[in-house]
Amino acid sequence: MSQICKFCGNAVLLGSGTIFAKNDGSVLSFCSSKCKKNMLVLKRDPRKLKWTAKYVKGGIKVR
Ligand SMILES: [Zn+2]
Repeated sequence: MSQICKFCGNAVLLGSGTIFAKNDGSVLSFCSSKCKKNMLVLKRDPRKLKWTAKYVKGGIKVR
């Protein structure tokens, strides 16, 4: 059973990922500290980053 990285959408390999438990009880799994940092600290949109599986070609429209 594998986890999916909450940020980039790639599979998280067992033992190599990072698990982040939020105060509300939900658990976020990340494939790397890079993804964790991008989501929690930098608050970036994975759809705008080419190295994520969620990247939308051409970019997304943001209001
Ligand atoms: Zn990731």
